[in-house]
Amino acid sequence: MDFKTIFEPFKIKSVEPLSVTSEEQRIKYLKDAHYNPFQLHSEYVLIDFLTDSGTSAMSSKQWSAILDGDEAYAGSKSWLKMEAEIKDLTGFEHILPTHQGRAGERILYGYLGGKGKVFISNTHFDTTRANIEFSGAEAIDIPIAESQEPMAYHPFKGNMDTKKLEELINKYGRENIGGVILTVTNNSGGGQPVSMENAKQIADICRNYKVNFFLDCCRIAENSYYIKHRETGFEDKTYRQIAQEMFSLADGCIMSAKKDGLVNMGGFLALKEQHLSDECTNLLIITEGFVTYGGLSGRDMEAIAIGLREVFDADYLRYRIRSTEYLGEKLYNMGVPLIWPIGGHAVYLDAKAFYPHIPVDQYPGQSLVCELYIKGGIRSVEIGSVMFGKYDDKGKLIPAPNELVRLAIPRRVYTQSHIEYVIEVFEKLIEDKDSARGFKIIEEPKFLRHFTAKFEYV
Ligand SMILES: *Cc1c(COP(=O)(O)O)cnc(C)c1O
Repeated sequence: MDFKTIFEPFKIKSVEPLSVTSEEQRIKYLKDAHYNPFQLHSEYVLIDFLTDSGTSAMSSKQWSAILDGDEAYAGSKSWLKMEAEIKDLTGFEHILPTHQGRAGERILYGYLGGKGKVFISNTHFDTTRANIEFSGAEAIDIPIAESQEPMAYHPFKGNMDTKKLEELINKYGRENIGGVILTVTNNSGGGQPVSMENAKQIADICRNYKVNFFLDCCRIAENSYYIKHRETGFEDKTYRQIAQEMFSLADGCIMSAKKDGLVNMGGFLALKEQHLSDECTNLLIITEGFVTYGGLSGRDMEAIAIGLREVFDADYLRYRIRSTEYLGEKLYNMGVPLIWPIGGHAVYLDAKAFYPHIPVDQYPGQSLVCELYIKGGIRSVEIGSVMFGKYDDKGKLIPAPNELVRLAIPRRVYTQSHIEYVIEVFEKLIEDKDSARGFKIIEEPKFLRHFTAKFEYV
């Protein structure tokens, strides 16, 4: 359809009221949450852009299948349905259900990792990195150089630097590489897509060196959209066929179904090889559950089987990608610095450029996150030095390469007028830009500190 209006390709069957709060209330709520939006009660949030993970609205088909969920401990027919759907989509022989993505990560990377092992990725997602590092292994990110320049256009800014990949395999020795992980789309790198050409080159290198190649495929449908519209040779393929082609290049994949699975909980690990699957299955049973549920209810598995089909619908994907782009383009035209082009599931704001008066060791991203909440009740997340910063031997901050704030858009949840409201809030933020203040961390845990760290204004 050729209309300018991006309309939601669904109508609303059930509604959930939003809670409207005053700025005065929000100032108090945020203080009580130690200026960490992860600590806010969701009922104090108007528009929740914290994450697109597990926040999708399910379809009436998914809800009705939920009643059909078979809660048998072993051999559930809901599992057989989910397994068949994933086998058909990925082409992998061995499917392990997990309660979410990170359970698959802990199992696979815990098994392949350990001290002395190295994992290489375009960008490891935060839980991926944490699971790898927790095993004692090292996680190295090698996105292409263009990805480090927020405004530089590249159609596949999520690509991995394949030259560096070979250098690293040679440097560490192929036997020390736990695996090469391609994240599609590249979540922490701005939700940017990866081209099929890049995936093929990586697959070739991994095959030559006999190194495992895995896809972190949480957003494989969104990635397929970009391949169809930006890479030559894919115009006539369906989104699902494109995804299938990408899966065929890898030795396995980990998926958090909370993203492109269009469900609120679930995930899986899919593997080509029997031996690896056997080892992972042992670990699955110890902590997740028996092989035919892995921590999921039968009803969850029903919903995943359907969600994985619905997400490749052409009308849905067009609405999904275009509506995220719409928000990003509007903000861009208002002069808000952001990662360009706009990624699939989120708009990534460049907080360092938006608040040049706040130094990186005062976390400009955290300032922007707090301002968005105070001014508009919008919850977002910092992806910068709070999430990825480290300390040197003297306890001085080693900042992340970028100070970003992510507005992650839940799937099928908000309408065009919600988006227009968000744009209005940004008008206020721009007016009051110079009064925003930096933060210091007063308490933090050892891993994934952004979830629970406490802050104070400097
Ligand atoms: C969400 C996510 C994960 C982890 O999945 P969970 O379901 O949150 O455990 C891993 N990788 C990427 C790219 C993700 O976006």
